Amino acid sequence: MLFTTHSLVGAALGSATGNPYAGFLGGFLSHHLMDALPHFDQGSFRVRERRALYLGDINFEENTIGTFGARDWAMLFIDWLVSLILFAIIFISSPPEQWGLIIIGALGGILPDVVDSSPLWSIKLREKIPSMSKYNDFHGFFHWTVPAKKWPLGMLTQILLIAASLWYLVF
Ligand SMILES: [Zn+2]
Repeated sequence: MLFTTHSLVGAALGSATGNPYAGFLGGFLSHHLMDALPHFDQGSFRVRERRALYLGDINFEENTIGTFGARDWAMLFIDWLVSLILFAIIFISSPPEQWGLIIIGALGGILPDVVDSSPLWSIKLREKIPSMSKYNDFHGFFHWTVPAKKWPLGMLTQILLIAASLWYLVF
C-alpha cells in the first residue's frame, strides 16, 4: 500500500487517540489491517492474478523488493510528494499541540514498510536478524496487492482511506 495512505491513516489515528503510545500502536496495527485490503502499489507490477485464497496467497518470489527499479522509485517519489503536500495542509489546519500526535501516528503507520519493504536495507536486515524474516512472512500474509490491471480497485480503497483521514484531520 502507498506511503501516503499509511501515513495519513496513522496520522488520523494519532490525533484521534490523543495519546502518543496509543497513536503509534494504532498507526502500526492499522498498517497490517490496511495491507489486507486490495491495494495498488509498486508490487502490483510483480504480482500475478490472485487465486482463490485470500490471505497469504501472494507469491513472494514475484513480490520481492530486490527488483525495485526506476519506475518503482518514480512512484515512491510521487507518493512522498503527495504526502508532503497533504501534510502541509494538515499542519496548517491543525493546532500546533496536535502536531506531535499526528507525526507519531504517521510514524507508526509507515514503520512496517520502512523496516520491511525498503529496497535499500530490508533484505540485509532479514539476513542479519532471523526474526525479521518471520516478520516479513507475517507482513506478506496480511497482504492483498492487486495486479496492475486492477489499479482502479486498488486505488479506490486508498482514496477512500485518504479522504476519510483528511476529512478527520482538516475539518
Ligand atoms: Zn506494508
